[in-house]
Amino acid sequence: MSQKQVLITGAASGIGQGIAFFLAGKGHHIIVSDMNLEHAQLTVNQIVADGGSAQAEKLNVTLSEDVDNLIKNLDNPVDVLINNAGIQHVESIDSFPMDKWDFLIQVMLVGVARLTQAVLPQMKSQDFGRVINIGSLHALVASPYKSAYIAAKHGLLGFSKTISLEVATSNITINTLCPAYVKTPLVEKQIVAQAKEHGMSEEAVVNNIMLKPMPKKAFIEIDELAASCEFLMSNLSKNITAQAIALDGGWTAQ
Ligand code: NAD
Repeated sequence: MSQKQVLITGAASGIGQGIAFFLAGKGHHIIVSDMNLEHAQLTVNQIVADGGSAQAEKLNVTLSEDVDNLIKNLDNPVDVLINNAGIQHVESIDSFPMDKWDFLIQVMLVGVARLTQAVLPQMKSQDFGRVINIGSLHALVASPYKSAYIAAKHGLLGFSKTISLEVATSNITINTLCPAYVKTPLVEKQIVAQAKEHGMSEEAVVNNIMLKPMPKKAFIEIDELAASCEFLMSNLSKNITAQAIALDGGWTAQ
């Protein structure tokens, strides 16, 4: 595959960072964007030390001015946008703070629309583009106490179907990867919080809560997601669009 310019949001940690390392290792140039520029720069330093090509950019996906500045100042157009930035808040709807609800939607749904809108004109003019959303199995099914997160992730699928129709006559696709749990800082925090809340060991939270509904009883590895991105970036996937691709160990088959 020819070298592509890949913009990843929230790429200074967890899944985004792992995908950045993987795709840089395949020869692609990675725009490591994150609201935390210092961490983005550390990620870039590691990619460059390993012989890869990358640049760090400050990007808070909730701020239109950040998006506009980034796209305006890029030397080359974005070939692949990976919408990965995400946050979680776990609370019953009875007490879920509405400002938090709104913020999660801003980061994981409006932010995706903002970035996609910004890169599509260049993708259309070069007749190539791939938008890959990091969704979740929670784009497909629900669990209690995650109403904002699950609403945002379900919304991603509707957004992607709509955009896929709007760009159907170009070589542009938009798809959503839907993983079950991946061990990243976002999930580590949930394990600690749930252990405290239920008075359980962290091991019990993992085995008796998180992996319980998952037939394969394993965390998804970041390279499984990264390799799926690599496939979706290629021309072999040019007719795969608007899809939710589950990497869930059979969770949603039940
Ligand atoms: P993480 O907390 O390790 O990393 C998230 C990154 O996003 C951080 O670097 C953070 O600085 C950045 N970020 C947060 N808000 C931002 C904003 N407004 N603008 C720009 N950057 C921002 O989380 P992760 O587990 O790697 O999650 C990445 C994505 O994967 C999220 O969309 C999440 O919903 C999804 N996901 C994660 C899991 C899992 O089990 N970890 C499972 C399914 C889906």
